[in-house]
Amino acid sequence: MLQKLKEIKSTYKTSVNILLIEDNILEAKLLQELLSESQTHSFNWFHVQRLSKALELLNSCHKNSSPYDIIFLDLSLPDSTELDSLQALTNQVNYLPIVVLTNTEDDQLAIKAINQGAQDYLVKRTVTYESLRRSLYYAIERKQIQEDLQKVNHQLKLSNQLLKEEIEQRKTIQKQLEVSNHELQHFAYMVSHDLKQPLFTISSWAQLLEIEFQNQLDIKAIKYIQHIVNGTQRMDQFIEDILNYSRVQNSKQELESTDCNQLIFLVKQFLAIAIETNNATITCDSLPIVMANSILLEKLFQNLIDNAIRYRKKTHNPKIHISANLEKDQNNHPFWQFSIRDNGIGIPQKCFDKIFMIFQRMHSSEEYPGNGIGLATCQKIVQLHRGKIWLESEVGKGSTFYFTIPETNHKSSLNQS
Ligand code: ADP
Repeated sequence: MLQKLKEIKSTYKTSVNILLIEDNILEAKLLQELLSESQTHSFNWFHVQRLSKALELLNSCHKNSSPYDIIFLDLSLPDSTELDSLQALTNQVNYLPIVVLTNTEDDQLAIKAINQGAQDYLVKRTVTYESLRRSLYYAIERKQIQEDLQKVNHQLKLSNQLLKEEIEQRKTIQKQLEVSNHELQHFAYMVSHDLKQPLFTISSWAQLLEIEFQNQLDIKAIKYIQHIVNGTQRMDQFIEDILNYSRVQNSKQELESTDCNQLIFLVKQFLAIAIETNNATITCDSLPIVMANSILLEKLFQNLIDNAIRYRKKTHNPKIHISANLEKDQNNHPFWQFSIRDNGIGIPQKCFDKIFMIFQRMHSSEEYPGNGIGLATCQKIVQLHRGKIWLESEVGKGSTFYFTIPETNHKSSLNQS
């Protein structure tokens, strides 16, 4: 807008074409005489005595362009009265500035004329070279500014309309995305659920085969059966993880007062075998009570601590520390910032964003078993709680995963999108 207004420039032309509509020849000549005093500008007069003649001339011009720069209109013409003449002209050439000429100093009439589209008015008997010249340029410039403002206004309306349409489009796309996301979640849930049963059947029959025909099977056959059982177990874990991932979206939306110390206690119990076999030490600061979905928050801690144990360095026992600080964002809204620090193998910086995507792994399954669903699930849980998750890490030294939970989360306010 400002840029546009800057573009509106002064229009002091040196040669001006004037259409004069004046029935009185003497007065017309007087006006022409007055302006002929100018040393710097030339004024070309096109004089007519009737409104009808003027309209005829203007009618023959191209639409929105005429050879005239301005119209001087006498308000007492033989074929039209006062403001009717002005009305007829503005109807036909609303792009040209019009200065009305009156015989008397009738302020009411002058105001009406301005309100109906005239740029200025002059009282003929008091007119001087200076007032005529000033009025002429003032009228041209004012008209120009009005037109430019109208253009800017028009453009603004257009952009506004476009913006509204874009917002509507985005809303529709967002809605469609939500629906398809929901359907996809549901689909993943159903498929995973249905796959579990036949998998269980395969694994059970394979194990039965091994037990019942133990004496008839050679070592090679038993090894093959064990491969089948291991494969089905891995597949089962994979399905369970996908189910967990879909459950995050479909989980109960209610938040409750959740003691994070209690959650860590439960997670340690759940991971007891892994902790013991890896000789892991888990230390923990005093953690807060937050408004959260406790099942999801437990899963979040579980995934992060499980990773901290699994991605250990062969040379060191895993040492994991969990802490939380109350911080404030730039809008002064308080949030809890949790951190889970380990002394494991670390993650290259270029992978920081990638690892939160589903099925993205930095290590092969032979090296470190896994399926790349854990951190994607973590991210989803954090986002549902209106928080953020990120990490700092150095290869060979260890990683710290951070996540936030707003302190202002209220009951029943999980963020569904
Ligand atoms: P998964 O562990 O099943 O592969 P995740 O989504 O939990 O899936 O992790 C994605 C990848 O991020 C892992 O494959 C691993 O390469 C890397 N990663 C996650 N946590 C850690 C950690 N604490 N230390 C080192 N690497 C990690």
